[in-house]
Amino acid sequence: MKTDKSNILALLRDSRDYVSGQQLCDRFGVSRTAVWKVINQLKEEGYQIEAVSRKGYRLIESPDVLSRSEIASRLKTKWAGQCLYYLDETGSTNIDAKRYAEEGDPHGTTVVAEKQTAGRGRRGKYWESPPGTAIYMTIMLKPKFAPDKASMLTLVMALSVAEAISEETGLNAGIKWPNDIVVHKKKVCGILTELNVETDYIQYVVIGVGINVNNGAPEEFPEEIRPVATSLKIESGLQISRASLIERVLDRFEQNYDTFVTTLDLSRLIEAYSRHLLNLNAGVKVLDPKGSYTGIARGISTTGELLVEKEGGEMVTVYAGEVSVRGLYGYT
Ligand code: ATP
Repeated sequence: MKTDKSNILALLRDSRDYVSGQQLCDRFGVSRTAVWKVINQLKEEGYQIEAVSRKGYRLIESPDVLSRSEIASRLKTKWAGQCLYYLDETGSTNIDAKRYAEEGDPHGTTVVAEKQTAGRGRRGKYWESPPGTAIYMTIMLKPKFAPDKASMLTLVMALSVAEAISEETGLNAGIKWPNDIVVHKKKVCGILTELNVETDYIQYVVIGVGINVNNGAPEEFPEEIRPVATSLKIESGLQISRASLIERVLDRFEQNYDTFVTTLDLSRLIEAYSRHLLNLNAGVKVLDPKGSYTGIARGISTTGELLVEKEGGEMVTVYAGEVSVRGLYGYT
């Protein structure tokens, strides 16, 4: 589903030199006027494009805009995000993705929004979703495996986001099992997986990802989450291209998911996952509605549960559903 606009943008971005109008026409089978229109649209969106007679066009700078073309023009995936929706504002990208699934959109359909008015977290929690600085995206899947495997998808996504953040920013991104990504002990990302199950098969799964990217200062977060929330810009000092990070998340997820389905467990991902797992071999507190306890996190099982060694040596298998895990002295 690539448009002329995203194709032209991709070519301009990939070529370091000028690209002539004629080259663009020939390559994509469009008219001179069509090319000229696309270039003007891109300029209006904030792209700095130099036009030199007899040489052609050259992309000087891309703004940190999120648009369908900006994201689609970067994607090199086979299925993740190939059906792509971009919305300026929505309630929740997870809810949109469920609707698109019901309407027949394919496995890998992705929804990205600039702003959410009702961003959600696990168990009825909220996700703060201001415009202009963050990523709110949901990928929808139509897997063929049994519903009991689906909880592992949260871990597959957590690994993918941690890898994408590390590659894009050089920051050390840790996974706070099961669904948060943490940088320098604070949360930069939350993941919310929701399933629609029909008796014994999965109709679809949606995996929502919220990442704080270019929020400039801690004061930009509401007071109640300030102690735990941070952004990639605050931690790295770098302005980050959200579209580029989205591309990496989709790219990593496609690879990790395809690896996951070969075994339907995490056996081939566990090594990479463990490199990002926070609190490995350190004390953790498991907040379980049936009673909290402390222990030492010893890693995850191949089916995605956290293994916690209690005092006295008893090994407990922690299922993600109802629990939150903390460090012994704070959020991590
Ligand atoms: P935890 O285990 O940390 O309690 P959770 O996994 O149960 O979290 P999530 O669904 O990941 O919960 O996230 C929701 C929580 O994250 C909210 O209750 C709030 O405290 C915090 N939060 C909300 N918006 C943001 C944000 N933009 N950045 C960081 N943290 C946020």
